[in-house]
Amino acid sequence: MISSENVELLMKLLPISGASGDETEVLETIRSISIQSGLPERCCQYDQTDQLTGFGKTGSLIINLPGNRPGPRRLLMAHADTVPLCVGCKPVIEGDWVVSASEKTALGGDDRAGATVLLATLLKILKEDLPHPPLTFFWTIQEEIGLVGARHARAEQLGNPEICFNFDGTKPEGVIIGATGDEHIGITVHGIASHAGAFPENGVSAVVIASLAIAELQQGGWLGKIEKENGSGTSNIGSIQGGAATNVVTDYLEIRAEARSHNREFRLEIVSAIQDAFEKAAASVTNEAGQHGRIDFVHHLKYEAFQLDISEPVVQKAMAAVKAAGEEPEIRVVNGGLDANWMTENGMPTVTLGCGQHAIHTTAARLHITGFQKACEIALHMVTD
Ligand SMILES: [Zn+2]
Repeated sequence: MISSENVELLMKLLPISGASGDETEVLETIRSISIQSGLPERCCQYDQTDQLTGFGKTGSLIINLPGNRPGPRRLLMAHADTVPLCVGCKPVIEGDWVVSASEKTALGGDDRAGATVLLATLLKILKEDLPHPPLTFFWTIQEEIGLVGARHARAEQLGNPEICFNFDGTKPEGVIIGATGDEHIGITVHGIASHAGAFPENGVSAVVIASLAIAELQQGGWLGKIEKENGSGTSNIGSIQGGAATNVVTDYLEIRAEARSHNREFRLEIVSAIQDAFEKAAASVTNEAGQHGRIDFVHHLKYEAFQLDISEPVVQKAMAAVKAAGEEPEIRVVNGGLDANWMTENGMPTVTLGCGQHAIHTTAARLHITGFQKACEIALHMVTD
């Protein structure tokens, strides 16, 4: 079912600038195309996420469509924002691919492809007056900077959907039923400053404390890929900032790190291992007077892990839609966060499927047109079957 109309829509949405917090134009375009195609304006609303967080120019866009046949409400979602590298991109078609015309910008197929899948599905329903249960179309904001739109999604405002599908990723037949959880870690290392040439013995180096801690974590198998008897996960020291001059013993470092695991307890064990290593290192480095440094350690949940059971209606419906589109569903659990993490946490179990994205977040990003079209076909089965 190749539809050139869907590709036309895609080429309309792809070039619109919409970095996280700046999604107004893309959402207004989606809204106005829908209204021009016969959607009553009262079906459209924006949620209050931007006002709640004090960041961004718009809330997420919600279109609630009453059903013309009974059934539990179904929801389709995709995120409206892109990473900043996609701003200013000019999409061009090369064979079965959409690519960016410039080597300096990335194609925002992540996730304009998903955003277009939703719009194409809505327009088809309106145009052909297809029978469908109550439906919600949900374009979230600020996914790329921490799943913000989905974090603030409220079931009541979305019409209490019972079956939710998210389009974001590569393979349309890949049915993602689970994703890892992620803990953000902030470590401030306080040492003691002194003149590095005249009185180095008076100083306590924050760099040395951090180095010892990181070396211990590495040697103990607590950095990178972690496989222990009682669990598995990953961790990363992502950023270290500090130090002002070579002639001062560094007394201050800011470190940002993360710990991921599908298992919450084990994820917190990784966090504890990192905290212990830094505290031990801080106590072990002393100056001539016997003083030592200290650390401040904070962590918070970025998103909780989830895993849906194969027998859940949303998973069964997703598999049926993939089969109806002539593909064999591949059940997957992934190690990255998705809007589905927060949707599920907020009481709306959500399955995620791909829509043709390749090499996302890089200038090599491209979109597989056949994959995108297949996702459109699957989405239509999801809401009309
Ligand atoms: Zn995405």
